[in-house]
Amino acid sequence: MVRDMRLSTYFLPVLKETPNEAQILSHRLMLRAGMVRQASAGIYSWLPMGLKVLRKIEAIVREEQDRAGAQELLMPTIQSAELWQESGRYDAYGPEMLRIRDRHDREMLFGPTNEEQITDIFRGLAKSYRDVPKILYHIQWKFRDEIRPRFGVMRGREFLMKDSYSFDITADDARKAYYKMFVAYLRTFARLGLKAIPMRADTGPIGGDLSHEFIILAETGESQVFCHKSFLEMDPLSLAADYDGDLKPVFDAWTHNYAATEEMHDPAQEAALGDDLVTARGIEVGHIFYFGTKYSKPMGATVTGPDGQPIPLEMGSYGIGVSRLVGAIIEACHDDAGIIWPESVAPFKVGLVNLKSGDAATDGMCETLYGQLRAAGVDVLYDDRDERAGSKFATMDLIGLPYQLVVGPKGLKEGMIEVKTRATGNRETLTPEAAVHLLTA
Ligand code: ATP
Ligand code: MG
Repeated sequence: MVRDMRLSTYFLPVLKETPNEAQILSHRLMLRAGMVRQASAGIYSWLPMGLKVLRKIEAIVREEQDRAGAQELLMPTIQSAELWQESGRYDAYGPEMLRIRDRHDREMLFGPTNEEQITDIFRGLAKSYRDVPKILYHIQWKFRDEIRPRFGVMRGREFLMKDSYSFDITADDARKAYYKMFVAYLRTFARLGLKAIPMRADTGPIGGDLSHEFIILAETGESQVFCHKSFLEMDPLSLAADYDGDLKPVFDAWTHNYAATEEMHDPAQEAALGDDLVTARGIEVGHIFYFGTKYSKPMGATVTGPDGQPIPLEMGSYGIGVSRLVGAIIEACHDDAGIIWPESVAPFKVGLVNLKSGDAATDGMCETLYGQLRAAGVDVLYDDRDERAGSKFATMDLIGLPYQLVVGPKGLKEGMIEVKTRATGNRETLTPEAAVHLLTA
C-alpha cells in the first residue's frame, strides 16, 4: 500500500506570490510549489515534495549506472587536503574550494569532486591487472563556493552529484568505459524526459583529452551551444542497453554530427551547416572525461601487470548534476500554470481533487478511489481540504502531477468523474471504474 498523502496534513507550503529573489522560472516554480527553501546563498533545504522528485531522479540515475556495470560505493563529503596536495590540485582549485581546519589544525576540505579520493581508495586496495576494469560511482553532496550562486538549485554551492570513475590498464579499455558511460547517459536523460545532446567539450581543470558535456536546450541556459538539427530527432531509448557488445558504433553515430559548446565551437563548420545549424542556449546536466593517467601518475596508482611490472591506471570521470536536474527538468517541462512533470520523476502520479469536502457522497467516492489507487501501487496526493475548487485546481496545475482525478457532487449524480491529463490539458469524463483502470494500466 502506497503511503497516505492528504493535502490537509501534508507539508506542502505553496506560495501565492511569486518570490522576487528568483530570476528564472524553474526557481520561481520550485519555491512556489513548496519544493525547496533557501538556507543561505546557494544552499537549500529540500521539502517533502522536492525531496521526492530528487529521490526519483537519483533512482533512475542509479539504475542506469548499475545496468552499465558501474558499482555504487559512498565516499565522505569531507576530505583531507593531503590527497589534493599529492595531485597538485590543492592550490590549483582556488577559492571555489571550501577549506576547513579541524581541532588539530589539520587542513580538510568539503569535496567539490572526488578524483583524488577514489584514486586513493583504488591504489590502496587494487593490486593487480586482474582488479580492472572497474567503474565505481557514488551519489553524494558536493560543495563549490561558486562566485555567483544563482538560479536556485541549478547553480548552487551545495549540490548533489552522481560521479563515476573508471579504471583500466590500457587506453583502449578506458575508451570502452567512456563509451559505456556515454550510452548510460543518453539513456538516463531520456528516461528523465529530457533531450540531452552530447557536445564536444573542453576538459577544463580536470584535464585530459576526451570530453563531452550533455546539454539540454532551454532559453535560460547559461551557455551558448551549437549543433546539427538532427540531434533533435534522435531517440536514445531506441538504444539497446547491452553493454557487453561494441559500443563504438553507437558513440560514433551520436558524435559524427556537429555539436559544440561555446568554448569549443568552430564558426567555419557552423557556416557550412547553413539551415541545419541550431544555435541555442543550453543547460549542462552531465559531463564526462577521459583523462588517462593524470591522477594515477602523480598519486602512484598502479597495478601489477602480467609481467610483474607496475602499470599506471588509465582513468575517466563521469558526472551528473542530480540536484541541478530538478530545475533543468522544470525549465524543459512547464507552462503558464506551472510544472508539468514527466511521469518518471513526478512526485505523485495522480492528484485526487475533492470538489466538495464535507459532502458525504463526494467524500465517500474519493476515499474509495484513493484506497483503490494506493492498493494498486499508484502514488496519489489527495486534496481533501475544505477549499474553493479554483484554488485546488491552481495548486494541482502548479505542482504539475501528470493526472488530476476530479470528483464532485454534480458529476457523481450521473455516476461520473473527470480525469485531466496535465501535459495536454485533455479532460475525460469517465466512470470511477474506467478512471481507476486508466490510471493503473
Ligand atoms: P558548470 O560548467 O555548470 O559550472 P562544471 O563543468 O563545473 O559545471 P562538472 O565538474 O562537470 O561541472 O560537474 C558535473 C555536473 O555537476 C555538471 O554537469 C552539472 O550538472 C553539475 N554541477 C556542477 N556545478 C554545479 C552547481 N554549482 N550546482 C548544481 N549542479 C552543478
Ligand atoms: Mg562540466
